[in-house]
Amino acid sequence: MNGRFWARHAWTGTLERDVPNDVPNDVPNDVPSDVLSDVLIEVSDGRISEIRASAAPGDAVILDGLVLPGLANAHSHAFHRALRGATQSGGGTFWTWREIMYRVAAALTPESYLRLARAVYAEMALAGITCVGEFHYLHHAPGGAAYDDPNAMGEALIEAAAQAGIRITLLDACYLSSGFGLPPDETQLRFSDGSADAWAERVSALKDRDHARIGAAVHSVRAVPAAGLGVVARWAGERQAPIHAHVSEQPAENEGCLAAYGVTPTRLLADHGVLGPRATAVHATHLTTEDVALLGGSATTVCMCPTTERDLADGIGPAREVQEAGSPLSLGSDSQAVIDLFEEARAMELDERLRTRRRGHWTAAALLRAATTDGHASLGWPEAGRLEVGALADLVTVSLDSVRTAGPSQALSHGLSHGLSHGLETAVFAATAADVTDVVAGGRVIVRHGVHQLVPDVPRALREAIAGLGA
Ligand SMILES: [Zn+2]
Repeated sequence: MNGRFWARHAWTGTLERDVPNDVPNDVPNDVPSDVLSDVLIEVSDGRISEIRASAAPGDAVILDGLVLPGLANAHSHAFHRALRGATQSGGGTFWTWREIMYRVAAALTPESYLRLARAVYAEMALAGITCVGEFHYLHHAPGGAAYDDPNAMGEALIEAAAQAGIRITLLDACYLSSGFGLPPDETQLRFSDGSADAWAERVSALKDRDHARIGAAVHSVRAVPAAGLGVVARWAGERQAPIHAHVSEQPAENEGCLAAYGVTPTRLLADHGVLGPRATAVHATHLTTEDVALLGGSATTVCMCPTTERDLADGIGPAREVQEAGSPLSLGSDSQAVIDLFEEARAMELDERLRTRRRGHWTAAALLRAATTDGHASLGWPEAGRLEVGALADLVTVSLDSVRTAGPSQALSHGLSHGLSHGLETAVFAATAADVTDVVAGGRVIVRHGVHQLVPDVPRALREAIAGLGA
């Protein structure tokens, strides 16, 4: 895909390296916040071939706002979108929420999952997400029988991403147990391959393609017995593939793990070779000091999902501590309570403010780095998530002109030097997904002026896909 785009403003992040770093030990905030103006971006073969500031638009496609690299949604369960609004009445806990979630899981077929995921991924595209990490565990037919193609459900997700114009890393999850030493329950039979070796054999039949890469996942230490952890880790290691795991989202998981194995979930994963630079710990909410050191010391990414964690009353994870210990951070919409990575990014900072009663834990640029560069890297797409020559041409335009964003950022157009990064603060602290106007993925325009180019009526697609489930 070739093309030429002209951005009124563009955050070039890692491109501009001449910014003095006056806080040398402050790693999380060592992210340049430079915003360039009148930026011509040439694309050849889906990649950025040239970036030039202070250029005339000529015949380029005009992106009228602040252009960011594509956003990576590092943790998604597409079908949870069907629960939006359905789990908000009354009280309940994570565990009662899960009961309702299981009813939706029980209703899905490869055909209905394709329809639902296509609509959900189109919603993500409208929000500026150009790559999704789909943490996928709904593998088999009700009762646990394999479909004719044992990967029919995973293939449906890969096809859904293609139809929505975004990239996907299918994080195929091993899920064998309903709890420490317990067999899967009736719903969970759909998740289970019976053994870690059978999981590995099935997943090995899935192949990468242009828009899709295959990664591994350990659903959790609840769902994969210790003996299976090494099998999943080796499978990912042989392929240099990402490996993700839900970690310590709930104190009950920690208690169960301590009772079964005498160690924390993080320690158990470390002891079986799961942690490392290709690994992501999702949530990591309830950690010990040793857990923080294990995650950081192994450079395991930590994926925060603040809108889900607050929806499920999980707690606030130690994002700042794990990052200081060495973990990159990524962000995910997880339960799809909302799909808005700007909200996830600011929630991480704002939750930390509430916890510490102090402001300014991350700059806007550092939060955006989690939503772009580091998120993509955690999904096995290190060539995406940055505006620089050679990177995949994923461009997300945020309007600086909407009812939410108009105002301070306009200082940019008048060249006020102190205003040079204001667009970033606006994007992170005021914009919502609704302010994304145009999205380019791999040089292809998939959203133009707020309209998805492949799924023209996304609300209708969502409505029909969810109504069709009858759950
Ligand atoms: Zn999850």
